[in-house]
Amino acid sequence: MEVLLRDGPHDGRTVTGGGETVTAGGCLYERTGERVPRRGRGMLVFVHRPDCCEPHGGGTEDRCE
Ligand SMILES: [Zn+2]
Repeated sequence: MEVLLRDGPHDGRTVTGGGETVTAGGCLYERTGERVPRRGRGMLVFVHRPDCCEPHGGGTEDRCE
């Protein structure tokens, strides 16, 4: 299924995934309880983990790699 990514380098992007976490371009996103209306059904929202990019000094604008 497709999920929506929020915050981080991939904000607003949708990826195929599920479970508790998904990765996108080396970034780790974790599941929230939230759904947004998309394509007639609710799409799960995954939020960028705050400990993903920040410890690398890249901030939220840079990619993790
Ligand atoms: Zn990241």
